Amino acid sequence: MKFVDSPIDHFEYFGRQIYVKRDDLLHPEFSGNKARKLAYFLMEEFAEITTLVSYGGTQSNLMYSLSALAKLRGWQFIYYCYKPSQIALDQIVGNLAGAIANGMQLSIVEHNLDQRIADLQLAKDTLLVKQGAAEETARFGIMQLAAEIRSWARQFSYARLAVFLPSGTGATALYLQYYLPEFIVYTTNCVGDTDYLKQQWDRLDANLTKPQILANTKYRFATPHRELWDKYQEISAISYIEFDLVYDPVGWQILSQHLQDISEPILYIHCGGQMGNPTMKQRYKYQFKV
Ligand SMILES: *Cc1c(COP(=O)(O)O)cnc(C)c1O
Repeated sequence: MKFVDSPIDHFEYFGRQIYVKRDDLLHPEFSGNKARKLAYFLMEEFAEITTLVSYGGTQSNLMYSLSALAKLRGWQFIYYCYKPSQIALDQIVGNLAGAIANGMQLSIVEHNLDQRIADLQLAKDTLLVKQGAAEETARFGIMQLAAEIRSWARQFSYARLAVFLPSGTGATALYLQYYLPEFIVYTTNCVGDTDYLKQQWDRLDANLTKPQILANTKYRFATPHRELWDKYQEISAISYIEFDLVYDPVGWQILSQHLQDISEPILYIHCGGQMGNPTMKQRYKYQFKV
């Protein structure tokens, strides 16, 4: 199975070439940042495993990518969560609908999800992937991403490069900086403030060189803002690329404010996630009548 070498596109923005690493096109059924992070679970043998178990929110990109992983591997996929709203269950598009279409079985928990997971008696044919496990094993897939970036930069003789992506947990940015010491990785905090992001990095590995943070002091995670919508529309119209509506509008908004400060050629990592766009679009429509 080909699961490497996502293409690199480019477009012109304020007189600069911006390169875009299209991890959203990594593989037809398994793509984006979460697929990179889960590559370990795709590539390792796991000979005894028949069932994948995970848990968390029901709009998450990770949940959807786990469903794609299970489908590719022919594993059952059981996802523990609190009961989604009827509106969420009735959606025919989005991460939840997509994951269910991939065969995900929901196991509804009334309360104390964490305790329920801690109490699970796992058979030896069952693999539990926690959010945290996806962060720790992410190194494997991010190393591959770094190797692709390096070979592209060599091919086009870029001795300097600014690699940018918006951060959630920050694991991708941290490991990318580790595997690309010759380049600068820039990121912005989409979840929590800059201190939260630094704490996340220390928790993963306090010894690694930290990426550069372009601070987001305004936008709360997955919260619609009129100017984020406008930025999203602007970038779509120029690039002809569909980005995600949770991380990328913040990413582009903050990056555009710092273009003058970054002299290196910019490579933006497209982390996929468009599967969740229909549900975000509905929220934008509802709030701003866009
Ligand atoms: C998960 C994700 C990110 C952020 O990745 P982290 O490693 O959690 O920082 C960015 N963009 C998209 C679309 C994602 O799904």
